[in-house]
Amino acid sequence: MTKPLVALLSGAGISTDSGIPDYRGPDGLWRRDPQAEKLVTYEHYMGDPDVRRRSWRMRRENRMLRAEPNTAHRAVVELERSGVPVRVITQNVDGLHQLAGLPARKVLELHGSARSYVCTRCHVRGPMKDALARVEAGEDDPPCLECGGILKPATVMFGQRLDPVVLGEALAVTKACQVFVAVGTSLLVHPAAGLAGVAVDHGARLVVVNGEPTPYDEIADEVIREPIGTALPEVLRELAVGDGS
Ligand code: ZN
Repeated sequence: MTKPLVALLSGAGISTDSGIPDYRGPDGLWRRDPQAEKLVTYEHYMGDPDVRRRSWRMRRENRMLRAEPNTAHRAVVELERSGVPVRVITQNVDGLHQLAGLPARKVLELHGSARSYVCTRCHVRGPMKDALARVEAGEDDPPCLECGGILKPATVMFGQRLDPVVLGEALAVTKACQVFVAVGTSLLVHPAAGLAGVAVDHGARLVVVNGEPTPYDEIADEVIREPIGTALPEVLRELAVGDGS
């Protein structure tokens, strides 16, 4: 039998077991601290060298790049390796799905990646660790080595729009999937949250795995409140044996 296409939307909750707090959510760290929010707001970042210097210092100390994937990330990899077609749509910028072993082309990063830098002028990209090594070596706001432009993490900052190509692919996957699993996301931040509704409208089975209630629980076929680290592997194992249609 053909295995169902599984789309998995992941939010901050899938990475909390890896020690990464929720930065971007409605109650995330950025939103609760206006000074911190400035560091990740495009207008302030581009307009104020001091904001950039503080931002680079903060990234140097950030635990995100040292975080390791957890059992939930690994469970997604196992599902993929079992032969089930899987696409991950993630609100996270930590790159842990790929680090766990999921091929990069299977992961749509709605908010970009903190593991890369990008030049705001010539758009060249590189590994974040290279930029951080320059900060470590004394450059407090390292400019682009190609063009001298301002470098920033390859994440979508506040005030920037989501990449329309990535968003378009996410929408296409959502419409095409037979099972849509929303994990560790409050489903409050659009447009990511709206994907759950689109999936249902297109006939997918909706499974919500989250600690807190979400606005989509009522239309979900299954709502699981248990800790993600134990709940997600179980849900995905069922899909792997073909119980998901
Ligand atoms: Zn450049």
